[in-house]
Amino acid sequence: MPFFDTHAHLDQPEFDADRAEVVARARAAGVEQIITIGTSAATSAVCVRLAAEFDGVQAAVGIQPNYAAEAAPGDWDRVVKLLDEPGVVAIGETGLDRYWDFAPFDQQQDYFDRHLRLSQERGLPFVIHMRDCDDDILAMLREARQRSPLAGVMHSFTGSAAMADECVAMGLYVSFAGMVTYKKSDELRRIAAAVPEDRILIETDSPYLSPEPVRKIKRNEPAHVVHTAARLAEERGTALEAFAAQTMANARRLFLERR
Ligand SMILES: [Zn+2]
Repeated sequence: MPFFDTHAHLDQPEFDADRAEVVARARAAGVEQIITIGTSAATSAVCVRLAAEFDGVQAAVGIQPNYAAEAAPGDWDRVVKLLDEPGVVAIGETGLDRYWDFAPFDQQQDYFDRHLRLSQERGLPFVIHMRDCDDDILAMLREARQRSPLAGVMHSFTGSAAMADECVAMGLYVSFAGMVTYKKSDELRRIAAAVPEDRILIETDSPYLSPEPVRKIKRNEPAHVVHTAARLAEERGTALEAFAAQTMANARRLFLERR
C-alpha cells in the first residue's frame, strides 16, 4: 500500500548517522514518496541534494518564519535560485509563528509574503507553518488570493474547523501529522474527519512529533506516517487502503503533477 509523507526534515542532524536506512525503512513500510523541507537557504540546499541522492525524495525550499531573523543578505536569492534545480516541488516552509520569539513579526510577514508571491509567479505550491497566529495567516492568504489562485498546504494543521473550511474554500490542502493520533486530540480528529477527501494530506514532520503508537520513539521518521494514516482512516470511516490511495493522489496532484 503506497503512502506519501508530505513533510519531513531529512536534512536534520538527527538523521546524519543512518539517513539511507531511514529512507529504506520508509520504502519497506510503503512510503514511496517523501518531501524533505528546508527551513533556511543552507538547509534548503541540503534538501535539494537529498532529492538528487534518493529516489522518491523531493525537496521544498524556503525560509521558515523562525529562521527569518538569521537569514543573511543573499539568502532569499539563493532560495529563489534553487527553484531551478531538479526535484524541487514546493516553496517553504513559510508561514508565521507567534509562539516562539525568534524573529520580529513584521519580518516574518515580509518573508511569508515573498514566498506567497513566488509561489504565484512560479506555479509551485507553498507549505505553511502556523503557530498561534491563525488570523494573521488567514489575512495574508485572503490578500494573496485577490491577486491570483492559491496552491499550497497547511502543514501539521492544528487550527479551528472554521479555518480548515476557509483554507479548503481558498483551494488549499490540509495536512495532519502525529498530533492527530494523540489521546487528547479529539477536536483535531473531528476537524480532520471533515476535510474533503480530495484535500487531505498526511505527513510525519519528522524528526519531530512521533505518532501513537510509537510516540515513545523520540526521533520520528517517514516510515511512521503509516500510523497517522491508520488513525485518520479510522476516524474518517475509510478503509486504510482507500485512504492511502486518496492521500497519495492528492499529494501527487499538488506537488508532482504540476511541472
Ligand atoms: Zn517542518
